[in-house]
Amino acid sequence: MKAVRIHEFGGVDKLRYEEAPDPELILGHVLVRVRACAMNHLDIWVRMGWRGGELPAPHILGSDIAGEVVAVGVGVEGIPVGAKVIISPGLSCGRCLRCLAGDDNECSSYVIIGGRIGYNGGYAELVRVPAVNIISMPENLTFEEAAAIPLVFLTAWHMLVGRAHIQPGEDVLVQAAGSGVGSAAIQVAKLWGARVITTASSDEKLEKARRLGADHGINYTTVDFVEEVKKLTGGKGVEMVVDSVGAETFAKSVEALAHGGRLVTCGATANPWTKLDLRNLYLRHVSLLGSHMGRKDELLQALKFFRTGQLRPVVHQVLPLSEAAMAHQIMMDRKNFGKIVLKP
Ligand SMILES: [Zn+2]
Repeated sequence: MKAVRIHEFGGVDKLRYEEAPDPELILGHVLVRVRACAMNHLDIWVRMGWRGGELPAPHILGSDIAGEVVAVGVGVEGIPVGAKVIISPGLSCGRCLRCLAGDDNECSSYVIIGGRIGYNGGYAELVRVPAVNIISMPENLTFEEAAAIPLVFLTAWHMLVGRAHIQPGEDVLVQAAGSGVGSAAIQVAKLWGARVITTASSDEKLEKARRLGADHGINYTTVDFVEEVKKLTGGKGVEMVVDSVGAETFAKSVEALAHGGRLVTCGATANPWTKLDLRNLYLRHVSLLGSHMGRKDELLQALKFFRTGQLRPVVHQVLPLSEAAMAHQIMMDRKNFGKIVLKP
């Protein structure tokens, strides 16, 4: 099969479009023909070697996969060959206390397909995954749209619903409207009846954010977002901030919170090291919540709303798999609004 593999860590030039062996079908697994694979910041971190691991063999990136079932292994039932599917991106042991409580994303052996060296992903014509990761694809979506859903909507759902317990009528600030998680979080917050304020680096991105349901947009290159949030909320601040940017925004995101507010973060696409004035936490009863991926059932919950059209995948651009290096460059330059999707 054709695949994009890395043989060593480094820049976009390390992404090699080349011939690779087909994955072998094994017990309890399913072989899927990849029709679309969306990019994530995770792909960049893995390519750079920032997620750790060694590269004894070439690695195939890609965690957001939609495709068709080609073959099923021994022991797999109820998944017909030819079925259109989305792949749930998390792998966990299935035996530990956390897994059995449904918190599979907190399993100590939790791995993201394509996101860990040794677990090949979807930058390829074929991918092999455990049968438990197969989800049937909503019929009203294209493969490109379906691939744009799993990581960012699972992450956004877990942050807002699972961790920060969003309530109707709350004011929510979503940082970086154009990021995958940002464009998903805006929609999830609206779905739950919040008023959404969002930030972006350009008016063009803010216009797109409004079309996704954001009530107010702040261009952070021209105005101070904390002052603007205070103005929009009559001095109160927001009940919740969704921040996956990192050091550039974190301390100011805390300042934008109302008394008793909570900040939920799922990552730091920029610098992860930051300074905080702790008085902004304890004097105002602020909560900081960390969040990583989400529970498998949360992805199934979110998918219901794609079937009704209440949530929509946000596809910035579709490129052939052979252009993976260009796709990485676009994301690193933050030129995208929503997901970049590769097609094998
Ligand atoms: Zn486990």
